[in-house]
Amino acid sequence: MGRVLIIGAGGVATVAAHKVAQNPQVFTEVMIASRTEKKCIDLANVLNQKYGTQVRTARVDADSVPELVALLSDYRPDIVMNLALPYQDLTIMEACLQTGCNYLDTANYEPKDEAHFEYSWQWAYRERFEKAGLTAILGCGFDPGVTSIFTAYAAKHHFDELQYLDIVDCNAGNHHKAFATNFNPEINIREITQKGLYWENGRYIETEPMEIHQPLNYPEIGPRESYLLHHEEIESLVINYPTIKRARFWMTFGQQYLTYLDVIQNIGMARIDEVEYKAPKADGSGDALVKIVPLQFLKAVLPNPQDLGQNYDGQTSIGCRIRGLRDGKEHTYYIYNNCSHQAAYEETGMQGVSYTTGVPAMIGAMMFLQGIWKKPGVHNVEEFDPDPFMEQLNKQGLPWHELHDVDLEL
Ligand code: NDP
Repeated sequence: MGRVLIIGAGGVATVAAHKVAQNPQVFTEVMIASRTEKKCIDLANVLNQKYGTQVRTARVDADSVPELVALLSDYRPDIVMNLALPYQDLTIMEACLQTGCNYLDTANYEPKDEAHFEYSWQWAYRERFEKAGLTAILGCGFDPGVTSIFTAYAAKHHFDELQYLDIVDCNAGNHHKAFATNFNPEINIREITQKGLYWENGRYIETEPMEIHQPLNYPEIGPRESYLLHHEEIESLVINYPTIKRARFWMTFGQQYLTYLDVIQNIGMARIDEVEYKAPKADGSGDALVKIVPLQFLKAVLPNPQDLGQNYDGQTSIGCRIRGLRDGKEHTYYIYNNCSHQAAYEETGMQGVSYTTGVPAMIGAMMFLQGIWKKPGVHNVEEFDPDPFMEQLNKQGLPWHELHDVDLEL
């Protein structure tokens, strides 16, 4: 049915590639391209052994529009799945426009030199994608992604008016390392050390990082301290559902994780500006002053999220707690998925956080190739019909559950 190009060969891309290979009737041709081609080749070999899939590979620097244009012109994919880093969103979108390819990602654009993310940079491409007759699907992981689709599904089937939305993300897994992040450490630490932000009565309210927190109960897990964070899907959801009076995002963290994070920040290792560092020259003739970004250095010494899977136990639980009106009466609704780290590892070799992101990315690309989510322009996932996507979540390893008229605790 279609030719897909996956850019990136990290944790999320690995899961998405497994899922693509499990659906050969939809993804008839596959290429994986990334900065380090060896990782793409290793992954292609695994897919070939496991599913018999023939996967092409390539090396590409996705920061370079000319390199991307050359690759896309040569391979001519129907859709590009951008599973590299948020820094590459704009270059990949630009290359898609220049070569007539459709686009999908899982995280919104972030400039390298500023820990700040918002959709405006990508929404600025709307007219160009629309005029070119190309579809760009933004934020198609779990959060953003499934949480936005859960919200769209709730609005379509269970409410006349959405009023209060709380997205709750719990990772109750244990990887048995002193400190590790569940996805790219640089992106993760930039995200959670920012100030908190939520939407209330028509405006954003800023908080200090991790200032607001409370224990919430998660299904099959129990109570976990949950912290209010700024998260990108809130930005599009409050626009697409203007009746929302308050929208917040909560994520759980253990005390040990927060203590490490404090230390990392206090000693300057979360800095994203360059510092000078005296490093030995390669030829052994003394030292040279080099520039390094502390957070990038930290990433190099932290455990690779891709390697956490083997001893990871427990599960994630991510969902939406919604209050609003139905038939003139107040109604509450909780929709969620729980995902086992071990089950994710057994299927794909990756832990649950990569799994919960890679599976929806594949389903989004499937929706496009099947012609169900084909709409020229740049769109957040809640702008498409949620029903066929929700059906696939149940089939592709992320089953969801609904609770009606329960205490939302929020
Ligand atoms: P990883 O760091 O594991 O993988 C990133 C991959 O991108 C690596 O293979 C890396 O190559 C490649 N890459 C980085 N820079 C370039 C470049 N300039 N050119 C080509 N390839 C490049 O990250 P994850 O898999 O954990 O995360 C992938 C994406 O998913 C991120 O954008 C992250 O923010 C997003 N995400 C979204 C979630 C959601 O629910 N929506 C949740 C979790 C993650 P190399 O191997 O050479 O370093």
